[in-house]
Amino acid sequence: MFFMMYHLIGDPTAEMPSIKAVSTWAFAGQLDYLLKHHEPVGHDEILACIREGRELPENGFALTFDHATKDHIEIALPELRARGLQGLFYVITGVLEDGYLPEIEKQRFMEAHFADYREFLEAFHAACVAAVPDKAAQAEPNEANIAAARGHLAQHKFYSTPERFFRRNRDVVLNMEEYKAIMNQMFVMLFGDEERFLRFHFMSVEDLRTMRDAGMIVGSHGHNHLFFDIEDASACRTDLAKSFAFLDTHLGSASRSVTYPNGRYAPHLEAPLADLGVEIAFTTEPIPSRADLYRYRVPRLDTTVLPTDPAAPMVAV
Ligand SMILES: [Zn+2]
Repeated sequence: MFFMMYHLIGDPTAEMPSIKAVSTWAFAGQLDYLLKHHEPVGHDEILACIREGRELPENGFALTFDHATKDHIEIALPELRARGLQGLFYVITGVLEDGYLPEIEKQRFMEAHFADYREFLEAFHAACVAAVPDKAAQAEPNEANIAAARGHLAQHKFYSTPERFFRRNRDVVLNMEEYKAIMNQMFVMLFGDEERFLRFHFMSVEDLRTMRDAGMIVGSHGHNHLFFDIEDASACRTDLAKSFAFLDTHLGSASRSVTYPNGRYAPHLEAPLADLGVEIAFTTEPIPSRADLYRYRVPRLDTTVLPTDPAAPMVAV
């Protein structure tokens, strides 16, 4: 079987004209396509297979959704319910408990906010001039600087060169503290109050209860969206324990399942996951051979692999 990986679903808005989302019609089309060619497998059956060492159904699929944004209840939930499908939804619990949005997520919303990516780069450069004047020359979005970033993150095919230029500044030119400070400063300028933004764009605890009561599954995407591969085992354990404690407190009990922030699996997660009773954890790695499905390193498919036309012939995934 295979697991689909969804993030934002919906259409561009005035606030987010460049949003990278699966459009509402494409989402509905993919669900119909999946139902035509594959069998949905529910959360409990997936876990039963893992516990009993049985193979997952050959032709099965399940749907995962990261970040628990508002579109998941407003757009995805009705589409799922109309088809009798179950979704697995993964929450960044720190967003709800601490009202804190990780900087990497702030970055995505800010990139989406500008109709032209150039304008995002100009705003970023202006913030660098103010915050890190000695590095601002490298952050200037001129042709030579942008061209020089062409090879950055070459393993990811989907970035444009200007996107690579920004990421090179983030990953190479700035240090983590500088990157975070600049993202936070830009975010306040563009969107104003963070708490109000989060209320508008992310599901509340009440929303999660509605999802649960509708038969959806709620699990953890970490508390602070840490990149677990660069944290030590004890930081991973603390973060995940906090996340499940929050979900258990507010939802009764949560699915012992995890999607790793940015898909980052690391071997030192094994002990914390086992101690916390986690039964399945998902990466963003594409599918390997089906035979070596391993419960703490379950691959997921990007939505771009699926047709959006339900009448399309079956594709190999
Ligand atoms: Zn994430």
